Amino acid sequence: AYLERIKTIDPEIGSFLLVNEEEALRNARELDERQAADDMEGELFGIPMGIKDNIVTKDVVTTAASRMLEDFVPIYDATVMEKLYKENPVLLGKLNLDEFAMGGSNENSYFKEVKNPWNTKKVPGGSSGGSAAAVAAGFVPFALGSDTGGSIRQPASYCGIVGMKPTYGRVSRYGLIAFASSLDCIGPMTRNVRDNAKILEIIAGSNLKDSTTMPDVSSDFLSTIDRDIKGMKIAIPKEFVDGATDEVKSSILKAKEVYESLGAVVEEVSLKKTKYIVSAYFIISSSEASANLARFDGIRYGYQAEGVDNLEDLYRKTRSEGFGSEVKRRILLGTFVLSAGHFDAHYLRAQKLRTIITQDMNEVLSEYDLIMGPTTPSVAYDLGSKLDNPLDMYLDDVLTASSNLTGMPAISIPAGLNKEGMPIGLQLIGKHFDEATIYNAAYQFE
Ligand code: GLN
Repeated sequence: AYLERIKTIDPEIGSFLLVNEEEALRNARELDERQAADDMEGELFGIPMGIKDNIVTKDVVTTAASRMLEDFVPIYDATVMEKLYKENPVLLGKLNLDEFAMGGSNENSYFKEVKNPWNTKKVPGGSSGGSAAAVAAGFVPFALGSDTGGSIRQPASYCGIVGMKPTYGRVSRYGLIAFASSLDCIGPMTRNVRDNAKILEIIAGSNLKDSTTMPDVSSDFLSTIDRDIKGMKIAIPKEFVDGATDEVKSSILKAKEVYESLGAVVEEVSLKKTKYIVSAYFIISSSEASANLARFDGIRYGYQAEGVDNLEDLYRKTRSEGFGSEVKRRILLGTFVLSAGHFDAHYLRAQKLRTIITQDMNEVLSEYDLIMGPTTPSVAYDLGSKLDNPLDMYLDDVLTASSNLTGMPAISIPAGLNKEGMPIGLQLIGKHFDEATIYNAAYQFE
């Protein structure tokens, strides 16, 4: 039924880069037989899923929506895939994204744009736009996305679903095609909070193949998800609300009332360093991207240009033809700010800002359980409307990127529709490794 739905509706939406039809049906039949034999093992037995196409899947083409990796067939599975496969789901296919996860509208995919299922003239958000659209359109009950500066939460907000960026170190990045290694996180995208918590429980955990994963932290979120939240302390930073459109503001005020009626204490606070978030994020993420993407040289991976004269020519031509313009923009920015004459003025200062932003948020979270606000300053906009002005799109990351700079967990949950029927997202940010409190508060809101 899911495959049928994808075949009839997805040509209009564009969320899948690859539908794994034959293999999915074979897998499903096998699970049917096991069910008939009463041999149903695994928490996701027979449940279909879609995976963002920057997470490597053994023997299944993984492109990162780039020409550079158009025919790339990984020889191993990402750790998150190994963990999911143990629970016996069915992989329906790989989901569209902005090339190498760089973007906020899913218009930077080399292959095709994604449209918002709520209104196909609007963007689904990005970079996990394919994952968000696929879940919202009912093509899969859950998907995985990745979030470097907001790429799970922002499309979740635009598409009216639940998206969680876990604490940095909660989920292994092994097998995630790197964008900015100190910021990248894999997380679940679902239709409701409980499913989301379940998927995170499955993919979480430390891992020897990723030394930035954290050992010995509990990944039990479901047993406390329906706790009473009476007395919970929630902070609303006024800077997070000030920049939002009126309709977004009013849905956040409504959410505040809901929380108060549930017995939480909701107070306004100030996060004065908010104005530095976007600059620090783009300097740091582009620097790391420029280093990470150096491996795409036409020799070790993927696309290789033809008709070249020498080795340098091969690099230049391969990278000129293989990368799209947004990716090149980031590589140029990153190599510029890391170069000898500019390092102190830009990269070093961005790192200092990262520390200051973290102190600012830690201070609030030492007095409150959660920080709450909009996920994005506005709802999903028209396709094409920001394509000529990348800076405009960058500024939209102001509410999400701080959780990546600080490593804190954050969720986006649906908080109503605007007058045109487009979804508005509510963001809850928690303390490091305290996803349990986020899920608890999100579940009670839902
Ligand atoms: N919109 C942000 C960017 O363009 C976020 C990307 C992401 O989280 N992968 O960098």
